[in-house]
Amino acid sequence: MANKIPRVPVREQDAKARAANFDEVCYGYDESEAVLEASRCLHCRNPRCVAACPVSVKIPEFIAAVASGDFVTASSVIAEDSSLPAVCGRVCPQETQCEGSCILGVKGEPVAIGKLERFVADWTRARGGRSVAKAPSNGFKVAVVGSGPAGLACSYDLAKAGYDVTIFEALHKPGGVLEYGIPEFRLPKEKVVAAEIADVKALGVKIETNVVVGRTVTVDSLLGKEGFSAVFIGSGAGLPRFMDIPGENLNGVFSANEFLTRNNLMDAYRDDYLTPVMHARKVVVVGGGNVAMDAARTALRLGGDVTVVYRRTEKELPARREEVHHAKEEGVRFMMLSNPVEIIGDDKGWVSRIRCIRMELGEPDESGRRSPVPVPGSEFEIDADSVIMALGTSPNPLIARTTSGLETNRRGCVVADEDGRTSRPGVFAGGDAVTGAATVILAMGAGRKAAAAIDSYIKSLQKD
Ligand SMILES: Cc1cc2nc3c(=O)[nH]c(=O)nc-3n(C[C@H](O)[C@H](O)[C@H](O)COP(=O)(O)OP(=O)(O)OC[C@H]3O[C@@H](n4cnc5c(N)ncnc54)[C@H](O)[C@@H]3O)c2cc1C
Ligand code: SF4
Repeated sequence: MANKIPRVPVREQDAKARAANFDEVCYGYDESEAVLEASRCLHCRNPRCVAACPVSVKIPEFIAAVASGDFVTASSVIAEDSSLPAVCGRVCPQETQCEGSCILGVKGEPVAIGKLERFVADWTRARGGRSVAKAPSNGFKVAVVGSGPAGLACSYDLAKAGYDVTIFEALHKPGGVLEYGIPEFRLPKEKVVAAEIADVKALGVKIETNVVVGRTVTVDSLLGKEGFSAVFIGSGAGLPRFMDIPGENLNGVFSANEFLTRNNLMDAYRDDYLTPVMHARKVVVVGGGNVAMDAARTALRLGGDVTVVYRRTEKELPARREEVHHAKEEGVRFMMLSNPVEIIGDDKGWVSRIRCIRMELGEPDESGRRSPVPVPGSEFEIDADSVIMALGTSPNPLIARTTSGLETNRRGCVVADEDGRTSRPGVFAGGDAVTGAATVILAMGAGRKAAAAIDSYIKSLQKD
């Protein structure tokens, strides 16, 4: 299948300029670019793109509306299935989901579904936002733990169905990783994240910030004296992992989580801020996922000379291709097939060097990727005054420890079935808290499924 119109390129901020600012990299489509790109869609009878979308957005329908210039209809079609279109249009790994399955991609370039979704969401927001239909109140209260994409998507669907939803969020701002993890230059906080959360709140969802479930309240007390009929746990996987190598306690070593949270949530990149983050000269970022790319590009914008150290090859990098491409354009260096073995400090306890070892790829592991194996005697050192560990995260054990009858697995994730039901009746879970660190859209999909299961559960109580 081919299409005569080439994929419409998207305008971006110049790489050299953006390496020194936190403004958004991608400018998105304007109206005429969006209409032209939408005209490439073949409106397949069995659209593979929809089957590959974890929240089943009606992609051909919304694209048809864009192609005819009816952006209002396009927006309503997307709103039926997605609570965070401007977020998803920016950060979803479309290349492995909808666009990865688009029929046009077999012989050419897939339709730019993500950029079209982003266009529609931005166009709608610039004209006052969307209005979403909501059922009358049914009088049942549901508590949601965590305001990341899982909690927001679950709340959105429940509120539309007439539930009285309260989100309890540990941090002082809602949004989860969208707010504290993904940097401003990929996902603007006020313009996009806060605006899409406002749409969820417009459905009547209440968000109580600075409430740590497991401390301030517990899941048991929410289901008991607080009078909630069900609880959804969408508390994410915010606990960083380290390598357990010598020198990880030196000054100048950060988890990517701390580094990004201080910059994004606490504005620490601003010079006038009271607790600024270190502006390191030579930074080594360890890891190869989206988190590593975000940490590297943030450190670069703070003036650092940044090297990403990754133990496999570029082919295995788990980060989105677009992010790796942007990082390279901006000047981030990559050192593949290398792994740190020690961080070396100066006499004042600050990082001065990092010792690494060369790796080669051996047999495939359980993930199907070839395992990196150290090459004996190949150690080498790199100068560094800061090391950022971006090695993945696990769920915080607090909720599991303070909730009776809630089963977790050996990785500390809440055990839940496909629809989010946990071992405890009335308690549902989804997103990174269940899967471990994954993606925004998978978390949203899990939140939506759990909302449907919560609805059935509460209706079944009424029949008893
Ligand atoms: C730096 C970074 C970049 C990423 N980039 C991408 C990307 O480009 N594309 C993509 O698809 N995915 C990306 N991801 C992954 C994606 O953001 C996550 O998979 C997704 O946010 C998970 O959603 P969630 O709702 O399950 O959890 P989270 O977003 O982690 O939200 C959980 C929320 O629960 C709160 N919470 C935790 N414990 C409690 C408690 N006890 N009481 C009350 N509240 C609590 C937390 O404060 C947090 O706000 C990235 C992740 C990171 C860290
Ligand atoms: S698979 Fe591609 S061409 Fe077919 S409907 Fe989806 S976006 Fe359009």
